[in-house]
Amino acid sequence: MDIALPVGMPASHTGPISRFVPPMDIGVIEQLLDTLDLPGSRVLDPFGVSPRVPIEAAKSGRAVVVIANNPISRFILEHTLNPFTLSELRAALAQIAALPKDDTRMENFMLDLYRSRCARCGEEVSVDFFVWDRELGGPSHKVYACENCAHAGEVSATDEDWERALDYARRGLHHAMAVEQVAPRGDPDRKHAEAALAVYPGRAIYAITTLLNKVQQLRLAPGLEAAVHALLLSAFDAGNALWGYPDGRDRPRQLVASQRYREFNLWRAMEEAIGSWAMDDPQVSSTALMPGGRLEGGRVHIFHGSYTRLNELLGSESFDHVVSVPPRPNQAFWTLSALWAAWLWGHAAAAPIKVALRRRRYDWAWHAGALHTVVKQIAPMLKPPARTAMYLPESEAGFLAAILSSYDAAGYDLHGRALRANEGQAVILWQQPGSIDVPPRKQLDATRLGQACRQALETRCEPASFDVVHAAGWTFLAREHYTRSLWDVDTRQMMQSIAEILNEALSDEATFCRLGRGVELETGLYWIANPPDCGLSLSDRVEQFVLDTLRREPELQLEVLDRRICESLTGLQTPGKRLVLAALESYAAPVRNNRWALRPEDHPAARRRACQDVRHELIVLGEQLGYAVGDRDLVEWREGGELRYRFLIRETAILSDLQLRFQEPLTLVMPGGRAALLAEKSRRDPRIRDWLQSGPGILKFRHVRRLASETTLTRANLAERLAIDPPEHQDPQLPLL
Ligand SMILES: [Zn+2]
Repeated sequence: MDIALPVGMPASHTGPISRFVPPMDIGVIEQLLDTLDLPGSRVLDPFGVSPRVPIEAAKSGRAVVVIANNPISRFILEHTLNPFTLSELRAALAQIAALPKDDTRMENFMLDLYRSRCARCGEEVSVDFFVWDRELGGPSHKVYACENCAHAGEVSATDEDWERALDYARRGLHHAMAVEQVAPRGDPDRKHAEAALAVYPGRAIYAITTLLNKVQQLRLAPGLEAAVHALLLSAFDAGNALWGYPDGRDRPRQLVASQRYREFNLWRAMEEAIGSWAMDDPQVSSTALMPGGRLEGGRVHIFHGSYTRLNELLGSESFDHVVSVPPRPNQAFWTLSALWAAWLWGHAAAAPIKVALRRRRYDWAWHAGALHTVVKQIAPMLKPPARTAMYLPESEAGFLAAILSSYDAAGYDLHGRALRANEGQAVILWQQPGSIDVPPRKQLDATRLGQACRQALETRCEPASFDVVHAAGWTFLAREHYTRSLWDVDTRQMMQSIAEILNEALSDEATFCRLGRGVELETGLYWIANPPDCGLSLSDRVEQFVLDTLRREPELQLEVLDRRICESLTGLQTPGKRLVLAALESYAAPVRNNRWALRPEDHPAARRRACQDVRHELIVLGEQLGYAVGDRDLVEWREGGELRYRFLIRETAILSDLQLRFQEPLTLVMPGGRAALLAEKSRRDPRIRDWLQSGPGILKFRHVRRLASETTLTRANLAERLAIDPPEHQDPQLPLL
């Protein structure tokens, strides 16, 4: 059931409205499709939230149908598949700029909205953004670059700035116009639209309604009109109070103004939006799904509408597979989508998502129910044994539970899992059985559930976070169809009772212990109460893998190495990127083109020689100091028959074997290059941290060399001299050793 987590390349271009689009590395979907060996060529993406899914699936030659019912997501998808050119976007901005407004051009009018004075020279400036204090109810600071005196940065806002900002807030007419576009008088959702609009400062509403009013009077060619809409959309996104300052939520989910937020200059926002909409052409053809239309390989077919309608359009066609990034509930984006769609395209266009205006809170139980409804309707369109591969770029415990329970309950069989807990990335693979058995109601017992969680820890052979044991527990429940048997339309009650049994299982102190625990179950690390000898810990296996790979291959990219690690350490073992990078940096240095190569001193012959030299130096040093020196597996220094020092020379920072068979005295002698890796290992595993604090001494190769050449070294000052170059000197920000 454990599968490899796909690893892509970081995208160089984030794209438009990026804080509401799932963060996807390039090639993740392509790799997922490659590794899963999915025969058949007709693929469905039922959620349409990430343009990368249909693009990469179509690039692999498959025929893709993507359901995109949110008009904003659909617009982003369409214009990621067929990006605007820079010149189209510039022409669109020029059109907007030239619109007449109050005896001037729209550009001047917009810049004038953000007029202020330079605090240094007193000249007029158009600020980049004001910083609002939500409690004070006005702008406290402004950020600008003065063209006159070149002063740039953040200064306090003046009384005049404050007055101007509040003046716009009092313009009720524009506020009413903005609401009217979404929910006309008499519409039951009008009060919800008003509540949603509250996240826009008055000046932004004034700017947006003025823009909309003028743009709607334009007669534009369709291509140019879409480019104008793209820029407006970016202005709508920039204009709300969800931009914290100095930093804030990167990916807001709740439609609430930040405590301190940026009120952006919306003209500048549109200028900058040109860059975000001018994307590289993915070279994938796309079309709207047509009635009776054959599905073409290598092409994206975009659909919006009901499942009944989709069934009609498909006729006798069915899908071989589903590939998707499932959506997370996002009240902010869903509500804003309803506003934005209504502003750009009118009530009818916003209708499919207008219901989002009403709901203020989404929880995972609600989401489980919503997913269940969708996947049940999709199931008849799939041809068994169709597989459903889902990639979660922003996984978390509740999200995973919602997916596992809803799919299992809808009759899908769990076939694969992988979780990279630190990064919140996960993959879940389902298979469509020929027929669905509704199992008899099963009694869930905490002991079996606990065993599944324990098994995951034993496989990792090191403590793990709550997310890992939680995923182990819930994937067990889905695989054994407990979630199917316990499914209840009251999803809240069902998920609550499962969570309670999981809590009971994890609280069993005969099976688990918790390291660095807080009160909450989600805190600290889980480990096995009486751990078996399970071999090398996950972090040691990562180190060994990195070293072996680097010694085999002269140069490689971090992402290539990471991908191989994820192919080797699959499922719930998938190690965090930070550990992979620490292991890589310990043995390799960047060379060129984003590639890394083994350091010269870590080539096997060089390292063997260095180990021999250190051994020799320790032997000589011990003899010089008058100890009886034994040279077996370890170098031993005795005094009057009594063992005073034992030195273990090791080229790696692999410790699992030593922790189990630790005997005092012991000094680990290792290359200085391992210090940061050792620090990272002890940061992630309290057992290592505690052991290193109380257990062995650590000595770097270079320090042995230094001691060997010291003429003033005596037995009396030896202990003090040994401690003079502790590993943390290499890495002062990690003073753990
Ligand atoms: Zn100035």
